[in-house]
This record gives sequence, C-alpha cells and structure tokens, in this order.
Amino acid sequence: MNQHDQFEKFSRMWRTQYCASGKTIYCRENCGGCCQLAVHATYPEAVAVAEALTESLSKRLSGYIERLKTALPELTDVKSYLKEHRQAIGPCPFLDSRGSCLIYAIRPLSCRALLSTRPAAWCTVDFAKLDNWDKQAYESGLDHQVVAWPTHYVAATRDFARTLEKTLLESMQREQGWSLSGNFAVMVWIEKNNRLGRRNNATIQQVRDILAASELNNPLLLNFTDGSQKMSDYP
Ligand code: SF4
Repeated sequence: MNQHDQFEKFSRMWRTQYCASGKTIYCRENCGGCCQLAVHATYPEAVAVAEALTESLSKRLSGYIERLKTALPELTDVKSYLKEHRQAIGPCPFLDSRGSCLIYAIRPLSCRALLSTRPAAWCTVDFAKLDNWDKQAYESGLDHQVVAWPTHYVAATRDFARTLEKTLLESMQREQGWSLSGNFAVMVWIEKNNRLGRRNNATIQQVRDILAASELNNPLLLNFTDGSQKMSDYP
C-alpha cells in the first residue's frame, strides 16, 4: 500500500534524526506492548489483511470477535471500551505468544505510528491504577517537545499516520460513496465474511445492512460515513 510506504519513509527519517540527538525510541522486536491496546484502522487496510488470512489467523480472529461480542453490553463509552479491551477482550488477535505481529508487513498505519519514548512497561500500564506520585513522575519524565500529550508516543508519526488515513478514507468516499474506519479486527471480520472490498457496486443501503447484521455496529467500534454526511475527523 502506497500510504504504508510513505509512512515508513517518514518514520525511518524521523527516528534516525531523533536517535542521532542522543535520545531513545524504545520499540523493539517481539515487544507487543502497544498491541494490548484497542487498534483502530481504515477499511482499505482491513481489506488487505482479510485477503491474507490463513486458517489459523481466522481462528484467532473468531476468538477475538466472540470475546468482543460477549463484552459488548458493557461498552457504554470510550472509557468502558478501553477498560473492557484491556481486561476481557484482550490483545490484538494478530499478536502471537512471543510478542510478534503475525501480519507485520501489512499492519495498519495506527500500529506503525506508535513510537514509544518510554520503556515498554509504560505501554501496558493501567494509568487508572497509578497513584499521584507515579503519575507525576511519568509526566515529568516525558519528552514534551515530541510526544502526543498525554501519551508517551511520538506526535509527528501519529499525526502523519492520521493524515494518510484520511487520504485513504477520502479516496474510498470518492470511489465508493462511503467510507468505514474503526476497530481493526472487527473490520477484518466484516470483510472476511462479506468481501465488500471486491464489490465496487455495493449500495450504501447494502453496506448499512451488512454492518447491522454483523451485530458489531456500535459507534465505539465502527465509524461509517456516506456521501450525505460530512466526514468526521479520523478516528
Ligand atoms: S496488527 Fe500487529 S502490530 Fe498491530 S496491534 Fe496487531 S499484532 Fe500489534
């Protein structure tokens, strides 16, 4: 995907310059810390992954969707969604037990965008459980020049990824008259079962029906936009 190549070029350059100034990006192979978070993506990125699903990846995906459906009644706002994701739904279905991404070459922009300026333990910490002293220590240790406050992730890569995500969604709007973004695994699931990516002529009503039938058409999980609406800022 062209947007992924553009992002990799930008991210490599940014990281090289940052590290040349004596600072550290803590992302390492087999870390998987940020893969514990709820992952968002654009539909074209999900289509690429659905096309590459093997039987074992599909099985992992089904397990994730089952856990998500069970937790769905508890998802009442963003806070509860993030909490349930951490506690009941679990990590990205494409993360293996060694902390490796099983779809690394085609992972979405939102995964690529997270460059950590703090050690990996901070990517999995539950901030709701930290006392004030620890929160202050965390905050004062941040490189405020570069992070997307209040996180310890780099703002420049996050912002560039969002710009590219927007171009993907705008081109979907132009070509199909609708666009979709949201929970990455949910969209891979929808694409696997309906192959919307291969149907250039699906009507907006057909897409709406498919989303409704998925039982996952929750605004916390999916952001559908058709030509009659103004495209909201991603995500
Ligand atoms: S797609 Fe890969 S990098 Fe992204 S959250 Fe899942 S396992 Fe992690």
